[in-house]
Amino acid sequence: MNAADQAHQTSLASSAYRQALEVISAVEPRIAQATAAELADQRGSLKLIASENYASPAVLLTMGTWLSDKYAEGTVGHRFYAGCQNVDTVESIAAEHARELFGAEYAYVQPHSGIDANLVAFWSILAHRVEAPALAELGAKNVNELSDADWETLRRTLGDQRLLGMSLDAGGHLTHGFRPNISGKMFHQQQYGTDPTTGLLDYDALAAKAREFKPLILVAGYSAYPRRVNFAKVREIADEVGATLMVDMAHFSGLVAGKVFTGDEDPVPHAHVVTSTTHKSLRGPRGGIVLATEEYAPSVDRGCPMVLGGPLAHVMAAKAVAFAEARQDSFRTYAQAVADNAKSLAEGFLSRGGDLVTGGTDNHLVLLDVSRYGLTGRQAETALLDAGVVTNRNSVPADANGPWYTSGIRLGTPALTTRGFGHDEFDRTAELITMVLENTQPGTTKAGGPSKAAYVLADGIADKVKDASAEMLDKHPLYPGLELS
Ligand code: PLP
Repeated sequence: MNAADQAHQTSLASSAYRQALEVISAVEPRIAQATAAELADQRGSLKLIASENYASPAVLLTMGTWLSDKYAEGTVGHRFYAGCQNVDTVESIAAEHARELFGAEYAYVQPHSGIDANLVAFWSILAHRVEAPALAELGAKNVNELSDADWETLRRTLGDQRLLGMSLDAGGHLTHGFRPNISGKMFHQQQYGTDPTTGLLDYDALAAKAREFKPLILVAGYSAYPRRVNFAKVREIADEVGATLMVDMAHFSGLVAGKVFTGDEDPVPHAHVVTSTTHKSLRGPRGGIVLATEEYAPSVDRGCPMVLGGPLAHVMAAKAVAFAEARQDSFRTYAQAVADNAKSLAEGFLSRGGDLVTGGTDNHLVLLDVSRYGLTGRQAETALLDAGVVTNRNSVPADANGPWYTSGIRLGTPALTTRGFGHDEFDRTAELITMVLENTQPGTTKAGGPSKAAYVLADGIADKVKDASAEMLDKHPLYPGLELS
């Protein structure tokens, strides 16, 4: 889009939002105010949460329509409700874009979130690998035809399957078999970690664990691992032990779409089933998708209503718009900048004495171990927030402070790269964060004892950092030209 077209689109979006807020305000002004306040907050802070981004006005506006009002359980052309022709159109376009964008054999665009996408994936793998062969052996078309005794046997078999996923403190996600999560309860689960010295994924150790445990499902993918994964190698391991390889690319799907991760680093040609969110580095609406080989497609397709509630047609429409954006050349430039900027951020910390898990990054995130500053992740996160820097605390491998207080903060570049930040701004960001951490001391409890939450940030630092951030943020405005009043 050229500059004149861009300016025209921005002016249209401005009036659309102004009018929408007026309509909302007439019913519940506090919601209109909170919505406007959120834009101001996002415009005025250094957003470094690795899982967040800024979707385009086109994506955001697509969600605010009457498509939301239609029930459409089922799949395209095969719905449990009448009158779904427009939802069929929307879902078909979104799925077509997803297939083309990722080179996938099959795309299911209904999941409401990343966790829902993972549930669909688990359920469909169980249905394909365990339920379908059992039904075939018993000569039944579906579970309703089974005797009570056969059903009970099948139910137990389904509940007796094994899942191997990356542990939370190595960077995996809760849904990869973490015991408190449903995934840890529906499967016999074991977890693989990273090398204790390098922090890197150890493929030999993973292979050894897989050989011993023999999982039905091997889950790869992560929330807080700052490195690329060789999915071809992980597929070899899965094949050797007869596991289905499921990759959760929720965090890095933007780098896959933008062709930063190709060949062995692109999970789609190697995994049987790939799940993702659509709102992180992919920069779409909040939601999830499942990509699958033809073999798994029929069971994935039954996600709704077997696992999911009715599809959100307005969100599927916004996914289609976001995927169309991600298929443009400009998205490849963006994705490469996300990865380059993460390197600049990492180097900015390392040159100032920072301690990074794995010693750096080659994706979109860095994991800074804040124990070097004598702080917990919780203390660092809140001190940074006081200075207008939004991050999230995160476990580091073998974290002594547990998953609540943690010893790290996770920082990602997708959002600020969308605003146009480049090398210099990310280096400056590392400098400002280091300044906050070096000037924060652990505080004490009210009774004067040691605290993992309390902290004291030296006077004047928060204002200094806010002023320096404002200079960068003003140069790279969020939704430039979009005015609500
Ligand atoms: N999978 C991974 C790897 C994630 O990092 C996340 C989000 O934090 C999810 C799944 C869950 O996504 P959602 O919040 O959309 O359910």
